[in-house]
Amino acid sequence: MRTELNYCWDCGHPAETQFAEGRNRKVCSDCGTILYQNPLPTTVAVILNEKDEILLVQRAFAPAKGEWCLPGGFMELGETPEEGIIRELKEETNLDGTVKNLIGVSPSQYGVWGDVVVIGFTVNASNGEMQAGDDAMGVQYFPMDSRPKLAFQTHEKIMHMYMENFHGE
Ligand SMILES: [Zn+2]
Repeated sequence: MRTELNYCWDCGHPAETQFAEGRNRKVCSDCGTILYQNPLPTTVAVILNEKDEILLVQRAFAPAKGEWCLPGGFMELGETPEEGIIRELKEETNLDGTVKNLIGVSPSQYGVWGDVVVIGFTVNASNGEMQAGDDAMGVQYFPMDSRPKLAFQTHEKIMHMYMENFHGE
């Protein structure tokens, strides 16, 4: 598990679990540094074409290999969420895009990645040639009423927020 922290990032001595600042945390057994851990921000895009079909990507790797989900991924250091989703879209689908609206934010857990915060945007995508890349093995538009169930419940949550507040505008 990515979130298992076994050694102090300051001095390299073993970390141990202690009650510190209101909850159980990893604390260095030698220098006492509290090894704070926080959720990872990740972004996803809701993209529809002119036929009201939704753009999904098929995952090439675990977790949920072979299942479909919204385009997106983890933010990199130094980029904004908007820059992150446009970069991920390009990497996974080869499409360029521009961010329209913030749909909402949904905390979740992603298997080995632990706690994440998913930030959903509506995005306008270019009409360029789609090509699955990076951690995607397929990319395709699906009719809304016959799309596959999304690999992650939190993506379904973002879709639900989108349908409630943005679809058809
Ligand atoms: Zn230490």
